[in-house]
Amino acid sequence: MNSRVDDLRRLISQHDHAYYVLDDPKVSDAAYDALFKELLEIEEENPGLITPDSPTQRVCGKAITSFKTIEHKKQMLSLQNAFTEQDFIAFDARIRENLQIDVVEYSCEPKLDGVAISLHYKNGILSHAATRGDGLVGEDVTHNIKTLKSVPLKLLGNNYPKDIEIRGEVYFPKHQFNKFNKVLLSDGRKPFANARNAAAGSLRQLDAKVTAARPLALCCYAVGYSSADLAELHSDILDSFIDWGLPVSRYNSIAIGVSSVMDYYNNMSRQRDTIPYEIDGIVYKINSIAMQNEVGSIARSPRWAIAHKFPAKQEHTTVAAIDFQVGRTGQVTPVARLDPVMLGGAIVRNATLHNMAEVWRKDIRVGDTVLVRRAGDVIPEVVSSVITKRTDLMHKVASPSICPSCDRRLVEVSDETLRCPAGLCCPSQLKGALEHYASKPAMHIEGMGPSTVSILVDEGMLNCFSDIYKLEYEKLLKLEGFAELSAAKLLDSINSSKKTTLDRFLYALGIAEVGKVTAKELAQSFTSLGALMLADIAELESIANVGPILARNIADFFIDLDNLAEIKSIQDLGLVISRPILKIDMISQILEGRVFVITGKFEDYSRDEIKMQLQQHGAKVAGSISSKVTDLIVGSNPGSKLEQAAKRGVRIIDLESYEELIK
Ligand SMILES: [Zn+2]
Repeated sequence: MNSRVDDLRRLISQHDHAYYVLDDPKVSDAAYDALFKELLEIEEENPGLITPDSPTQRVCGKAITSFKTIEHKKQMLSLQNAFTEQDFIAFDARIRENLQIDVVEYSCEPKLDGVAISLHYKNGILSHAATRGDGLVGEDVTHNIKTLKSVPLKLLGNNYPKDIEIRGEVYFPKHQFNKFNKVLLSDGRKPFANARNAAAGSLRQLDAKVTAARPLALCCYAVGYSSADLAELHSDILDSFIDWGLPVSRYNSIAIGVSSVMDYYNNMSRQRDTIPYEIDGIVYKINSIAMQNEVGSIARSPRWAIAHKFPAKQEHTTVAAIDFQVGRTGQVTPVARLDPVMLGGAIVRNATLHNMAEVWRKDIRVGDTVLVRRAGDVIPEVVSSVITKRTDLMHKVASPSICPSCDRRLVEVSDETLRCPAGLCCPSQLKGALEHYASKPAMHIEGMGPSTVSILVDEGMLNCFSDIYKLEYEKLLKLEGFAELSAAKLLDSINSSKKTTLDRFLYALGIAEVGKVTAKELAQSFTSLGALMLADIAELESIANVGPILARNIADFFIDLDNLAEIKSIQDLGLVISRPILKIDMISQILEGRVFVITGKFEDYSRDEIKMQLQQHGAKVAGSISSKVTDLIVGSNPGSKLEQAAKRGVRIIDLESYEELIK
């Protein structure tokens, strides 16, 4: 009986670890439930066998009546903040000066926006868990922490100190947060303002059953007190966390020197919205524990670590006016002109209000104080008005009846959505179409952003796409804002953009509803522009994701004689479309088990092409160097990844060896 109980506990813990820490479940829910039920039944019949680390003890019976306090064995420090790159450069300079070294190796880690927690393990068993509190004394939340399936009740293996405090962050996963708030709303309860509040609120429950019903998760990042010495590098200590079954962020990385640290920061900043938890910055820690000790701490903050915060993504400002803009499809969009405000690292002066229905629904008025938000790279938007600051002076705006760009009468396409019917005869639509054509995912003409397009259209130099290829150096020089260098650069960029791919060109043409993904699918299916132009509706509809409306849009576009003449002009002016790489199913498994990272630039391939080819041979492709990575493919001008890879003993492959590899 005893040994069966041990077996069951070990199996359940292993499955919890696989599911909640590794995100790689090994058994079905039903099989798991059966194991759990068996253990529960044995324990019910033999209460003497129950131990605190038994998985059945994650939720204890009774709710507590109040929170006790717990003294941390080692103070929980809080980090100093860096708000700019310069702040970090100064920090790095102080460290180098202090240690008399030329370059510092940092452990770089995402800074989770959750609740800091200290887990105390004695002889590998979770004895208690406490919040940060004032850093010296925190609140005992053991009963709630035990309900988190990603928290091991017993550490794996046996190579851990007898007495150790693990520091980490409890968070509410992003994808669960909205779902959870919806449930609260439908129950007539108040939703949480953000995921961090939801995590904090969930931990502050007297009844562990409430916490157990919420999807909290843990991420560990440091050691507090330890009865034994650990590894000499912080990154190696985090690796031992993994061996002990503790969850660690998979975005952690090592960076040597300032520029490599900034690469990491920029990379994470770009990925921010795709990371499954909220992060509000990056933490840099000196990786050598000996150096950490040498540098020491001041009062409540370590001198060997700093948190580099991401710029705020929500701010308050005032609506100076509400204008109407006409986009490339003719749709009229209300835009709030704002008093300038710093948002996400840039000054924001305009924010979209999407459509009139939205303006009415949110009741945004001129003069209002509003909350403005920016998520990732998207256009800033007005979230809401601050009603408490509203006075009689703030007024509503009416829907326009004529196009603000060409004075044509607007047509209502659907409820509250207005459109200018003038097409490319409307200067705003022409500008929008040209900007789209020149944009990065389309023809990628550098130096042809909105302001340049606007000047060129206003000067009458651009009336259609093909005019781009007729621009002349001498004429450009006469325009305001152009110097010899910028004019030459623009023409260079136009010239090199002529060599393109079918999907880019299709996307650039701006056919209604043809986005990047559709353009790629069309290019994969038809492989040449000529074939696509000849395709009938039935052929178009046979492509995945192309429905009747889209097929009709495409066919109509290529029947239009003006469009055909325009495409011919562009081709006559030197456009060269290369044939797309075909999507082929798995070719072989020769690279199975290998994990590749790609860095640098490649003349003949895009990174996506290389990625696809590797995957076709069974390899995995990762975004950053980690212990799982086996190979690094290096093009010209590689970044810090090369350094990191070399240090970790990752195999380095150049283009030639790569081509050899996939042959
Ligand atoms: Zn118009």
